Amino acid sequence: MTALLLAAALFHMGYAPARAQNDLPEWRVSLSEIRATAALIPGRRPLRVNILKFAESRRTKNFSIKGAPADPSVQARTAFQVMYADGHIMVDAGMDQQVHRFFGRGVEEPYNMEAAGQVERALTTAKLIVVTHEHGDHVAGVIRTSRVRELAPRTILTRSQVQTLLTTPQMPEIKLTEEMAARYLVMDYDRYFPLAAGVVLIKAPGHTPGSQMVYIVLESGREYLLIGDAAWHMDGVRLLKGKDAPWITEDQSAVMSQLKWLNELARSEPRLFIVASHDDEEHAELIKKGMLGGRFELRRLTSRLPKT
Ligand SMILES: [Zn+2]
Repeated sequence: MTALLLAAALFHMGYAPARAQNDLPEWRVSLSEIRATAALIPGRRPLRVNILKFAESRRTKNFSIKGAPADPSVQARTAFQVMYADGHIMVDAGMDQQVHRFFGRGVEEPYNMEAAGQVERALTTAKLIVVTHEHGDHVAGVIRTSRVRELAPRTILTRSQVQTLLTTPQMPEIKLTEEMAARYLVMDYDRYFPLAAGVVLIKAPGHTPGSQMVYIVLESGREYLLIGDAAWHMDGVRLLKGKDAPWITEDQSAVMSQLKWLNELARSEPRLFIVASHDDEEHAELIKKGMLGGRFELRRLTSRLPKT
């Protein structure tokens, strides 16, 4: 009886347990744990990180940052190359022009064939490929490609990324079948995954169920956090503002937790570069300062033969 009354009282007060549907705890990660995870895999750490823009979408800033004025803004479509002394890892895989047209929604937007070709070449020479999330502009390059048989066994997709691609892909072009999914390295992890020496995947569902961030620490000690689409523009991190784009469905409270963490990091860790996939202004600045390489390194690695 007391319990009933209590329940009634709580109901009356508008009580609703947060996230009752999936019982997920609030998103919480720690940089010291991430740094420790980055040291788990032996070997030399990466030497540098390169970014390449292969296409653009023109979207005014109010879509990327809630409450911002409708100023013109370029959303860069990019991929990243993490360079080691003996090979590279790709973060994100680009997309072909047909998927790019999907994003233009009837408007023809810039697509750089040559740069897209370089992304494709960087994928074919990569030791390993991961994607920040399962949206077309990040994942199509390892799905809609004539080289899928060659690339898929070197591409790690998380279970939740695969789940979205099987059931609710962003566009029909990137839909996977079970048979196609079986070609990839599919894995799951809870919070952090040590991917390679100096590289950690950080689970960050929010923008999509399969979103993750990629932490990188170089030999030099310089650190990067590739945040995918947690924010489209770094103003979202600086101002703690989410997106305001009616065409995307996000877990907004999860994204806000991520923005809060990123905002604290941006203020307390001057040696850590937080990089948003689509922030064209930020990329230009980091390339100018030499913090990111502005082109991909595509020379085929010559394997040194042992002297006999
Ligand atoms: Zn994106």
